[in-house]
Amino acid sequence: MVSLTTGSGAAVRIDDEAAWRDLASASHPDAAEVRELLAKALELKGLRGRDLAVLAGMSDPGLLGELFDAARRVKETIYGKRLVIFAPLYISNLCGNECLYCAFRVRNKELERRALTQEEIAREVRWLEEQGHKRILLVAGEAYPKDGFDYVLRSIETIYATSSGPGEIRRVNVNVAPLTHEEFVRLKDAKIGTYQLFQETYHRETYGKVHVAGKKADFDWRLTAMDRAMEAGIDDVGIGALFGLFDWRFELLALMQHVEHLETAFGVGPHTISIPRLEPASGSALASHPTHPVSDVDFQKLVAILRLAVPYTGLILSTRETAEMRRATFALGISQISAGSRTNPGGYDDDPGELHAGQFSLGDHRPLDEVIRDVASLGFVPSFCTACYRLGRTGADFMDVARPGEIKEHCNPNALATFQEYLDDYGSEETKREGEACIARTLAEMEPPLREKAAEMVSLVKSGRRDVYC
Ligand code: SAM
Ligand code: SF4
Repeated sequence: MVSLTTGSGAAVRIDDEAAWRDLASASHPDAAEVRELLAKALELKGLRGRDLAVLAGMSDPGLLGELFDAARRVKETIYGKRLVIFAPLYISNLCGNECLYCAFRVRNKELERRALTQEEIAREVRWLEEQGHKRILLVAGEAYPKDGFDYVLRSIETIYATSSGPGEIRRVNVNVAPLTHEEFVRLKDAKIGTYQLFQETYHRETYGKVHVAGKKADFDWRLTAMDRAMEAGIDDVGIGALFGLFDWRFELLALMQHVEHLETAFGVGPHTISIPRLEPASGSALASHPTHPVSDVDFQKLVAILRLAVPYTGLILSTRETAEMRRATFALGISQISAGSRTNPGGYDDDPGELHAGQFSLGDHRPLDEVIRDVASLGFVPSFCTACYRLGRTGADFMDVARPGEIKEHCNPNALATFQEYLDDYGSEETKREGEACIARTLAEMEPPLREKAAEMVSLVKSGRRDVYC
């Protein structure tokens, strides 16, 4: 058991024994128990502890279908059809850690190291803006050029200050190594959206085996990072685990313990949960041969269970996954996806003839326009909305709006307006056709007075107004 006291006096507690006990007692649940839980989940109050172990433990194909149906209903009720789109921006692959699964690990001598200059970052940002992106996830290894953490802060400033034609970045989320309280305060002042950090594995022993050198070898420093972030005033945090390092069922229960801790200590859980699956990475034997591979069916099960467990928390899927897996999981609960991604610094604006190894290999290589067209043709509305963060609807305030289902009243019109903006400014002819049809269908399905409000916002965009949101 791990129990740590943070500055607020609240304990971060990953209770391994409780997780194993729940998993052992729920390994072959009967159908009645599963159905009872699914009915409870449809009340949208979430699920915890042993309930999750029951769902993770069942394997009957009929019940699995019922789990997926329940997840689809929860997703539809809370999120409607929208799917938020973002792009990662890797600013540096310098790293002092030896994470055995990552191409950026310090002892990987095959990797060409690069920390982008501010001019290079601006070039990457312009490239992303010219594709139509509005949200960036800044990513870096854990070693900064000579100005240290200030490099990250200056990079955020550069991203917000860079525009290209009608393009601008309206929200910068950040995925960098754990910071001190003072650094988190400065990160908040830089006006970030979400601070994201994955524990990788909540299993301490496995953690020790795969993080063999550098600051990241300290499990507790990482586990307590979100407490420091929240104490510093960052109320949108994103957690996650790297699936494939250890038993996914254990990771699920432990991750949910982390969620519960944040809810108890700060009155609000994480804003997002990410569920990366281990992908091959250059210079990493472990990444190509995970010790605990998660099958495609188990991965879908994981998405569905999380959707029921934390109905109001965003679930993020990256381009690590293939287009097929991405399509399969949108309806089950995914609410945010990356698109058109590169995972090497300078990868967007690089000469296409030059091939540089990224952090890991991607499953979905399609450009943004193609992903958008696909998403729209599947009946989902790609959203570039950044309204909540800009209106201060973050942390507990976001959950207050989200809980009664009111968020749909903001999210759906905002998704339509930002999608229209994308189509007008960046969509190819083919995507425009698909997108306009998707917007018309979605408007027709909306109930008045929301339909009128959304239609008005869409026509404002069509008439030339930009950044229309409510
Ligand atoms: N360096 C910081 C850290 O480790 O927290 C932040 C950025 S790191 C580049 C982002 C995430 O990439 C890691 O947290 C890890 O989960 C994920 N990652 C690393 N290697 C991977 C691989 N081979 N396949 C999939 N995801 C990987
Ligand atoms: Fe460095 Fe992060 Fe990769 Fe680990 S996962 S080697 S800390 S970039």
